[in-house]
Amino acid sequence: MKRPGPERPRLLLILLALLIVSACTPPAMHEAPGTYKVESRTGGKPPPAEPRPAYDPGPEAGPIPAMPYPDAIDTLNWDINDALWEAESDSGAGGSDSIHAIRTRPARQALPTVTRPEGVVQRPRPAGLPERIHVFLGRNAKPISLYSLGAMQIMAEGIAETNGAKGISVSRQATLKGRFFIKRAGAGYVVEQEKRAVLTTTARKLRLISINPYNLVDVNGSVYRGSLHLIGEAGGETTIVNVLGVEDYLRGVLPYELGNVDRDAIEALKAQAIVARTYAYKRMLRPGARDFHIYNDVQDQVYKGVRGEYLLSDRAVWETRGMAVSHADTLAICYYFSTCGGHTASKHEVWGGDSIPYLVSRPDLDLLGEPYCAVSKYSDWTQEWSQAQLAGILRRNLRAAGVMDAPPFSSIKGMEIAQRAAGGRIRLLNIKTDKGLIQVKGDKVRWALRPSATDDKILPSASFSLKLGDGKVTAQGKGFGHGVGLCQVGAIGRAKANQNFRQIIEAYYTGVQVVEFK
Ligand SMILES: [Zn+2]
Repeated sequence: MKRPGPERPRLLLILLALLIVSACTPPAMHEAPGTYKVESRTGGKPPPAEPRPAYDPGPEAGPIPAMPYPDAIDTLNWDINDALWEAESDSGAGGSDSIHAIRTRPARQALPTVTRPEGVVQRPRPAGLPERIHVFLGRNAKPISLYSLGAMQIMAEGIAETNGAKGISVSRQATLKGRFFIKRAGAGYVVEQEKRAVLTTTARKLRLISINPYNLVDVNGSVYRGSLHLIGEAGGETTIVNVLGVEDYLRGVLPYELGNVDRDAIEALKAQAIVARTYAYKRMLRPGARDFHIYNDVQDQVYKGVRGEYLLSDRAVWETRGMAVSHADTLAICYYFSTCGGHTASKHEVWGGDSIPYLVSRPDLDLLGEPYCAVSKYSDWTQEWSQAQLAGILRRNLRAAGVMDAPPFSSIKGMEIAQRAAGGRIRLLNIKTDKGLIQVKGDKVRWALRPSATDDKILPSASFSLKLGDGKVTAQGKGFGHGVGLCQVGAIGRAKANQNFRQIIEAYYTGVQVVEFK
């Protein structure tokens, strides 16, 4: 293991005068721990009123190492940090079960050879794109239980003023590994190890920086790469943010966004990696200072750290590293969903607003006219309600479905699909009640017609027909999800039919380019 930067005295206080990274400021340099670059504002602009940094204002743990070539799980995760593992096995009962579970995963497997289609265009990296992504992991008032395999530097972040300009001060408070706990104490924190307080600070924000870039840290039972930021919130809550390279982030996204696919579908994994990376880049480039870029759940993309990583998906990330989807030299908005049932949907027909040229309805059919996503269990679905039950579900859900002025009706007299979009999804549903007509628009029908009154599930898709009779309402439908953009099960079908990632992406996003940022 390479030794990190030179020794420094504890409590070293570094003022970073440039804090708010403006659009024309180059991204912060990342250096080895203990050596921090001091940057200054240029251009004579007044300092902004709120001295919150944009992302990556200061040091993390050195440059992001190139992801190892994933030809086998040994080289993927473990060669580099054997020393850390030895330390772990010495640590006895204090170890982390979550980390051990990852350590004992199945070993080697052969992988397909690397293939790379023509036509991936190289582009300069977008200005202002940070190196690391900041991922929201959770927010609550409970003590945080941590187990770090290798040493982590605990840094306190504060605000400091130099010559009238406000900036971030970052000071190293402690270096810890093994099991430790962090609790809120007043505005700041107390850090405990072996039932002793090893650090008390009034800082609202802590950075926990892994010295070894391959370090793994167990946070409340889930294992992550990279560093952590803790941000103190009102009411004793703490927001936990994982800070890591985008490629490592994607390794923890793919297994949850596309699942465990067969090796003959690796091109679908690559397409999903590129689409998820594009989404992440767009989040990272969004203007305005926030404590993190992206949520770790369906609000953005599901990310669960190291636990779900597997070789084929790591390989798909590695082979597409730095690639994204671009339209007219702008990062595309890459929506995706599970199953289209044969046709994707146009964005403006599902959610309204302007049409987007690459998010328009496309057939998803093979040469025999079969949907590429035919293997999905949601290819065909049926949902049945009693008329009385559906009336109750509707009353409860109409507001969530965008109908604010529904009359207080008690029974359904009829239902009629008044308008369908090009791909067959419902654009306008008329519901006749004893108190008048109710209209539900577009994808919102899935929220109005929930399958059950007792859970939050919504209807699989807006592509269905309706039948009323004998006191019952039956919906017969196709597909799962909103239908805009890439059909994930279809992408797997296309990969199995020998399409490469570029063909898959271009099939779902009309007129886009796959670019590689260098
Ligand atoms: Zn499909």
